[in-house]
Amino acid sequence: MLNDLFIGGAFRPSLSGERLPVVNPFDGSVLTEIAEGRAEDIDAAVAAAADAFPTWKAVPASERGKLLLRLADALESNSEEFARLESLNTGHPIRDSRGLDVPRTAACFRYFGGIADKLEGDVIPVDTGFLNYVVREPLGVVGAVVPWNFPMMFCSWKLGPALAAGNTAVLKPSEITPLTSLRLAALMKEVGFPDGVVNVVPGFGNTAGERLATHPHVAKIAFTGSTAVGKRIVEYSASNLKRVQLELGGKGANIVFEDADLVAAVNGSAWAIFHNQGQACIAGSRLILHESIAETFLERFVKLARSIRLGDPLDPQTEMGPLTSAIHRDRVLSYIKIAVDDGAEIIAGGKAPSDALLGRGFFIEPTVLRVPDFRSRVCQEEVFGPVVTVSTFASDAEAIDIANSTDYALGGGLWTQNLARAHRIAAHMRSGMVWVNSYKRVHPGSPFGGFGLSGYGREMGFEALHQYTDPKSVWINYDASIPPWYPRSS
Ligand code: NAD
Repeated sequence: MLNDLFIGGAFRPSLSGERLPVVNPFDGSVLTEIAEGRAEDIDAAVAAAADAFPTWKAVPASERGKLLLRLADALESNSEEFARLESLNTGHPIRDSRGLDVPRTAACFRYFGGIADKLEGDVIPVDTGFLNYVVREPLGVVGAVVPWNFPMMFCSWKLGPALAAGNTAVLKPSEITPLTSLRLAALMKEVGFPDGVVNVVPGFGNTAGERLATHPHVAKIAFTGSTAVGKRIVEYSASNLKRVQLELGGKGANIVFEDADLVAAVNGSAWAIFHNQGQACIAGSRLILHESIAETFLERFVKLARSIRLGDPLDPQTEMGPLTSAIHRDRVLSYIKIAVDDGAEIIAGGKAPSDALLGRGFFIEPTVLRVPDFRSRVCQEEVFGPVVTVSTFASDAEAIDIANSTDYALGGGLWTQNLARAHRIAAHMRSGMVWVNSYKRVHPGSPFGGFGLSGYGREMGFEALHQYTDPKSVWINYDASIPPWYPRSS
């Protein structure tokens, strides 16, 4: 396992010499100790990225794209190694790491490799005799700060567009899950990215993260994480007016209408909340059921939730792994208590499993809570665990009211076989992404992000590529007749 900082194309210890443990969430054991990056290491990484920027910016876009394509291929060639490393560090079941994390990461690098040389400018029809063209210029050094829930995939969501557009980057992974990002850094070197183009400095948020977000030579912070830290990033950014992109929390509404295909809705809704132990910003954490089908739906849903196989993330049979840290496991358990104190009824799960083997890890059973009030805390605040609340509704208008009742607005879904209703409800849902008869679909070409407290800016697609550039407007006078403003000077 790689366990040093990656700065200027080389792995090296932190300047302080401090190291921090990386824990296996399956059994609480220490997997390795990695160098802990602090402010002075971030300074070194930003300096390396700033040195590399003029050269990288001048590399033809098609060549930058080719390196990203090569990276995607190399990742696929090493897919098993990456899948196992991600599962060991995060607790993702290996079937998810193999089937989703690695392919989605590769697909994202490949997508941005493919569009690197398709970032076109504009020609604006301005005054006669003038040619006005707009080119999109890279920003400079981009700071990428990512959380622990999908650490490898988020590297590609940020580095893909940043590098394709000609920026260099300093990535600060979560202190909890740095392993795949360090391995990715090594792979980038292997496929030929020049030294300094990407630098990876794991460390804590209030030291390394804060330095990156306040650094005067960082042009943009692309942040994924909690809303609370996102607000601080905005404050930090004021120091040099750096660009900010925020992918923050969510509280996904998942509405099931009485005309839904119940088999698909039950299965899809379980995936919506229980995939990745519910540790997903777009998790469908609020089930909103039409009252006429609620009991039938819940009977099947609870049966499915109870049947989900918890186990060793490296076992291909495992369908749900541990939560990624003990602190987070305790936080999720405290939300279940808050819900019960507020009158919720636990109809599945609600606790850590009693099994002795699982007891060593950070597991929580798939949990279903019937809530008396959709305005209660557990329905409004992000739990970020395998915990879903259930509310019922009688009319479409009521379903929309419940769906739109939180300050978050990231992802949401609905299940119906009525086409007109599907479009109508999608139009009324306050949500950056809406899935109809599915949930949690993502694609590197489709904008990903939210409204309200879920942040601003978008990952993916040309939308993201543009957000890693600034437009420059160039005016050429080739045949304009401009009467002199001061006639005497002629
Ligand atoms: P977090 O906000 O605590 O940490 C995220 C990252 O920010 C980590 O790398 C952390 O070290 C760093 N950080 C913490 N304090 C910082 C500071 N003061 N300055 C700079 N950096 C700092 O979030 P988390 O617990 O790691 O992740 C879970 C959160 O991420 C959830 O709220 C989840 O919804 C959100 N998330 C959002 C998306 C999205 O795309 N919208 C995706 C995944 C996760």
